[in-house]
Amino acid sequence: MSTTSPPDASPPRKSPIWWSNGVLFVFIHVAAVMGVVGRPLQETCRATLLLAFILWQAACFGITIGYHRLHSHNAFRASTTTKLVLALLGASAFQGSIRWWTLRHRLHHRYTDDPVYDPYAATRGLLWSHMGWIFFKPTYEKMSLVEKDDLDRDSIVCWQHRNYILLALTTGFALPTFMGWLWGDAAGAFIWGGLVVRVAVWHCTFCVNSLAHWDGLQPYSDENTSRTNFIIALITCGEGNHNFHTFPHDFRSGPSLLDWDPSKWIILLLNYCGLANGLRRVRKEDLADALVHMANREERSTAKILNSEGVENHLPTLTLNDIYQLFDAEPRLCLLLIGDYVIDAKTYLGEHPGGAAVLRRYAVRKRREATWAFMGGLNNHTRMARVRLRDLAIGRLGIEGK
Ligand SMILES: [Zn+2]
Ligand SMILES: [Zn+2]
Repeated sequence: MSTTSPPDASPPRKSPIWWSNGVLFVFIHVAAVMGVVGRPLQETCRATLLLAFILWQAACFGITIGYHRLHSHNAFRASTTTKLVLALLGASAFQGSIRWWTLRHRLHHRYTDDPVYDPYAATRGLLWSHMGWIFFKPTYEKMSLVEKDDLDRDSIVCWQHRNYILLALTTGFALPTFMGWLWGDAAGAFIWGGLVVRVAVWHCTFCVNSLAHWDGLQPYSDENTSRTNFIIALITCGEGNHNFHTFPHDFRSGPSLLDWDPSKWIILLLNYCGLANGLRRVRKEDLADALVHMANREERSTAKILNSEGVENHLPTLTLNDIYQLFDAEPRLCLLLIGDYVIDAKTYLGEHPGGAAVLRRYAVRKRREATWAFMGGLNNHTRMARVRLRDLAIGRLGIEGK
């Protein structure tokens, strides 16, 4: 579980420029741009572009499944073969060794948003959390508090760490160039499968540290800046469901089938094939507790708006039986329970910016116990959206016999 320290009142100390990191970072970007200018997309053969796409996704999975979920959070156990493949894919992403990456990521979770101790704190601005931190050599004062024994005991982690530069150059540049050579396009494969893919993988991972701490929903926790953002999830193999930060030991980055998370699906497949086991999940009661806590926060502000308009004074009290009778009369009702307010969203389905399906998903099902159906989906709704609820409220849920 992430631990949030209160942001330090004093500004972060100036760190010296990290020349080796910065120069390599800028050099690869410049080389990629020059490469693309010299070999534009339309002049590159399809096999090379397909190779680049596959290598991009493979490197991303090396980070999300291997570096992040397997090693940083021990969210599952993997067979030696699986670990080895993930270590090679991760090395191809050019983001440091498993050991290097994991220790810093554990710091990020331990001191999320702390401007001094979180290596890529979102509280220091979008640019800093995205890539600004790459240019300054930090001291990692709290690193001694981070668990590292499991990494030091893992022979594949140690082997990858010792041979990291060779493995990164081989998997990140030599391999794509060789594969392109097989169909007569070594130069194109070096540019697109080597340079461009390295830049793409970097920025996809960095988006998790920056944009996924900046814009999106907070269905599980608002104790730190992590957010759940579908668009970021699309380009980060699922990591954009980042508000699941609250449950880092879970092998999923979203518990729902509808959460876009290919990394989770691959781990499930590996588990099915016997290549991974011990998949860890957050306890159901903890998940429900987090959702209800966040939903209650919403409920309070929704109730405030309804109260401020004096709406609650003239709303009838509806029991579950009343609700069932409403369903009998009108089966296509879309009733939402928000706190103890009964909302009829049927006339709003076509207008809902998030789409009708989402509302239907959280609606009370006919003849099923009306439990808390409305969870975190409305967290980031504007005040105006909540005011809109005022017009849709048809009653307050009352207890039978009262
Ligand atoms: Zn984060
Ligand atoms: Zn994490």
